[in-house]
Amino acid sequence: MFTHPEYDGHEAVLHAHDPATGLKAIVALHSTKLGPAFGGCRMYPYDDPALALTDALRLSRGMTYKAAICELPYGGGKAVVLADPRRDKTPELLRAMGRVIAGQGGRYITADDVGTTLADLAVMREVTRHTAGATAAAQEPLAVTAHGVLMAIEAAVRHYYQRPDLEGLRFAVQGLGNVGYPLCEQLRARGAALVVSDVDPARTARAASELQAEVVGPEAIYDQVVDVFAPCALGAVLNDRTIPRLLVRLVCGGANNQLAEPGHDALLAARGIAYVPDYLANAGGVIDFYQEAIDDRPAAVLASVERIREITAAVLAHAAATGETPLQVSDRIVRDRIRAAV
Ligand code: NAD
Repeated sequence: MFTHPEYDGHEAVLHAHDPATGLKAIVALHSTKLGPAFGGCRMYPYDDPALALTDALRLSRGMTYKAAICELPYGGGKAVVLADPRRDKTPELLRAMGRVIAGQGGRYITADDVGTTLADLAVMREVTRHTAGATAAAQEPLAVTAHGVLMAIEAAVRHYYQRPDLEGLRFAVQGLGNVGYPLCEQLRARGAALVVSDVDPARTARAASELQAEVVGPEAIYDQVVDVFAPCALGAVLNDRTIPRLLVRLVCGGANNQLAEPGHDALLAARGIAYVPDYLANAGGVIDFYQEAIDDRPAAVLASVERIREITAAVLAHAAATGETPLQVSDRIVRDRIRAAV
């Protein structure tokens, strides 16, 4: 563990096994310095448990950074259940996972993620109160992550293009799922033109008919002459192979872990491409959880998520002043906040 490439001083990594239900899970607690570790519970049929561990370590670290850059009173954690949600998900399995979370005594708070839903959290709540989505308003579907990405885009467009709005700008959006599609709707509503890609032809067809999007293949999305590239599908899409192809000045999207390696931030910068840190642009979910305890009516949640615009603007201004990249600035702010915490 201590020599794992993704180990980043994690406070604790728990491997849980419940023979009665078949539960096999990993809970990674990256940091609780700023508050209880918050992060979703992913359920995925990993071919190899080593991949599940890598996911848990990378994603829990990302949660620490999301919360800290938004000045929220949380640390970062992530749970992964090694199971196929379509085949293995039973109430017994979910309750067993709930008991693992309960055993952390509030040090870890879980949420829905890939392979889990708000309904699954309700089952977990039969045995633990440490979950998100507990209020009635939280049951309403709300595109908080997409709204946050839009805020980051607005700040970045204002900074790099000196434009007060998105009217007439061209966006390449990769992935039309829970984040990408509502983002496209919001961009279109603001007068932007869209070039989109997805491996699911039904999703691209919908974007073409509803949003007048130009559809390109999954590979061609990297070659588009556009103003902004918004990765909203997979991680590691910014890499040695794709970065030299990009014809944009700005990358800002919702996908987690967009950079294949840390040095790719500098490679983008060397090509004159600004990269808004993914964990800042896609922090809408953690802000949503924070709002749950204050006022989680949709208007209040969306207003709270809008803080991403101001934070992004401040990070970009700081980067311009010091000559660092926005990621370097943002990472340093996070590390300083964690170091300063008692
Ligand atoms: P999703 O599964 O709903 O959507 C992903 C979409 O990407 C799907 O339509 C899929 O067909 C498409 N896709 C897969 N491979 C592709 C490829 N090679 N090229 C183009 N499209 C491809 O997932 P989501 O919830 O929208 O999440 C998208 C990204 O955002 C993930 O990286 C996720 O970790 C991150 N994220 C999501 C949230 C959230 O609230 N859902 C929050 C933070 C970060």
